[in-house]
Amino acid sequence: MIIVMKHQASDQSIHAVTKYIEDNGLQVHLSQGEEVTIIGIVGDKSRLSTENLIIFKDVDRIVPVTESYKLANRKFHPEATTVKVGNTSIGAGNLTIMAGPCAVETEEQLMCIARAVKAAGATILRGGAYKPRTSPYSFQGLEEEGLRYMQEAKAETGLSTICEVVSLDAIEAAVKYVDMIQIGARNMQNFILLKEAGQSGLPVLLKRGLCATVDEWLNAAEYIIAEGNPNVVLCERGIRTFETATRNTLDLSVVPVLRTKTHLPVIVDPSHSTGSYRYVAPMAKAAVACDADGLMIEVHNDPAHALSDGPQSLTFEKFEKLTNELRPFCQLVKRSF
Ligand code: PEP
Ligand code: MN
Repeated sequence: MIIVMKHQASDQSIHAVTKYIEDNGLQVHLSQGEEVTIIGIVGDKSRLSTENLIIFKDVDRIVPVTESYKLANRKFHPEATTVKVGNTSIGAGNLTIMAGPCAVETEEQLMCIARAVKAAGATILRGGAYKPRTSPYSFQGLEEEGLRYMQEAKAETGLSTICEVVSLDAIEAAVKYVDMIQIGARNMQNFILLKEAGQSGLPVLLKRGLCATVDEWLNAAEYIIAEGNPNVVLCERGIRTFETATRNTLDLSVVPVLRTKTHLPVIVDPSHSTGSYRYVAPMAKAAVACDADGLMIEVHNDPAHALSDGPQSLTFEKFEKLTNELRPFCQLVKRSF
């Protein structure tokens, strides 16, 4: 449930309400916006008497929150969240582009891709050092060596960095080298990993599971935020449907749906969702048109010889063409890029 305070409620009134809730053994989540102050309650509400709460000074109304996710819920936090990643931010009217190879392959490969994506307008470098591949015989990533190359690419280009983590050991290593960690589609409901990501202190990009509903996805985000880490960004990367013409089906309608349900920033990955470089540009433009906060795009210096996801990777030329073509779309939705 949330308690909506009257406009210009005094600090004293807010304090009195929060104290009453905490004294009853429940947790308080305070959201003080310019227009309104909302006091969210997390815990067993049967311990509270709403008849008592409504008569506190400056309480306007009490609204039940039926969804099981609370801290990720827009009702708890009506203002959109901005997540800081290294020296850039996701949300706040920006279009943030994360780009880079599916997998970090060599130091030279990563460095030349980093320079190219930066020149074309990306602000975050992506690169997988731990690759959860469908086949155990496929390239599994350079692990900590790959993370070191990410750190070197950041030092040279100034790009912020993101890397997927697949285990607790990977989180421990990643915090030493990168600015943001990614929980991939296959681990979206790995609750132990989500809790550890919540304790890592780094912002987290949470990809949608291949078969996850919006509610399951937001509950996964709740696991991270409940550990004290509010810096979660959601990434739509396609879901599994009966359709086989694309690798997955990009669910763009989820962007406006999430806007109503959560305050967290939402980005779109047209690479993993479509599985083909041919479809990346149109779907990236569509994602901007429906007001996504950013994009994750795979870019490779030599897609034909990439160790993973070559077919969906853009060349430098195609990536630069795309970012140029995205600018008018950004103007239409009033996003800066
Ligand atoms: C990735 O971003 O490298 C990746 C493996 O994506 P997903 O988890 O969406 O498949
Ligand atoms: Mn990939």
